[in-house]
Amino acid sequence: MNEGTVGGQMILTHEIANYPGVENISGYQLSNIMKKQAIAFGCDIKSNINIESFNLVGKLKSVSLSDGNKYTSNSVILSPGGRSRTLGVAGEDRFKGRGISYCATCDGDFFTDKEIVVVGGGNTALEEAVSLTKYAKKVTIVHHSDYFKASDYAIKEAKSHPKVHFIMDSTIVAFYGNENLESIELKNLKTNKTSVLKTDGVFVFIGYTPNTEFLEGKIELNKWGEIVVESDMSTNIEGVYAAGDCIEPRRSLEAIHEGSWAARQI
Ligand SMILES: Cc1cc2nc3c(=O)[nH]c(=O)nc-3n(C[C@H](O)[C@H](O)[C@H](O)COP(=O)(O)OP(=O)(O)OC[C@H]3O[C@@H](n4cnc5c(N)ncnc54)[C@H](O)[C@@H]3O)c2cc1C
Repeated sequence: MNEGTVGGQMILTHEIANYPGVENISGYQLSNIMKKQAIAFGCDIKSNINIESFNLVGKLKSVSLSDGNKYTSNSVILSPGGRSRTLGVAGEDRFKGRGISYCATCDGDFFTDKEIVVVGGGNTALEEAVSLTKYAKKVTIVHHSDYFKASDYAIKEAKSHPKVHFIMDSTIVAFYGNENLESIELKNLKTNKTSVLKTDGVFVFIGYTPNTEFLEGKIELNKWGEIVVESDMSTNIEGVYAAGDCIEPRRSLEAIHEGSWAARQI
């Protein structure tokens, strides 16, 4: 059994505050507890291993791994999850890991006593902006609209935090710097005016892309690349089910509920 890092996106967050039965736990800690529990129930976990090839069609499904093992079964639950969406603007690729980050828990402490920007207007952006105030002396949220699509709790927490500031109706159009990121060019989407803001770092939380590229042409996906399922989590291929963020971005609890519902159908 390979016991490398497991936990998916959950390990990227410093705090899971909405999982039943646990108050205030990091995603990394919670995923480790889940892993131990799964192993105790006889689950064999293979991690840090690539899927070389797979077949979902027919009665017997199969998957071949890069460690040489091949598994067959009558049913499969797909749960490849998703990943952070990027802005796709000039300089973003160049300054990834040199001032631009997509993970507060991974990179937050690099910005201790620095002034940083968070891009986004959903729960993740607002919650992570507040969490980053543990390190940064000033956090400016840049959002392309004049309102947030987030829970009342997350909005209230961000708006009432003395270190959190806001630039609304605006988006980043370019990243500048030498070795590391030094400034960003902002565009106000109402006035079309551009301005340059000095910053030590930018965290981007603007949604996600499902990790389903490897399933293109093999299973029904919608126009966003999400796996299409029925209410019993079945896909268009008999014996193949899906669960979690590959269907739609969700919370851990919902992903787990769907996985267990799919297992029950099987
Ligand atoms: C910053 C952040 C904060 C969050 N905070 C919370 C929170 O407070 N509370 C909450 O409930 N939820 C939170 N979430 C959401 C939660 O993490 C997700 O809903 C949950 O992780 C979804 O689980 P999943 O298993 O569907 O997908 P994922 O967590 O994305 O896991 C998918 C796994 O599949 C692997 N994989 C992908 N493609 C392949 C492939 N081809 N072959 C093999 N493996 C593959 C990936 O490497 C990954 O390990 C947060 C998410 C983020 C990013």
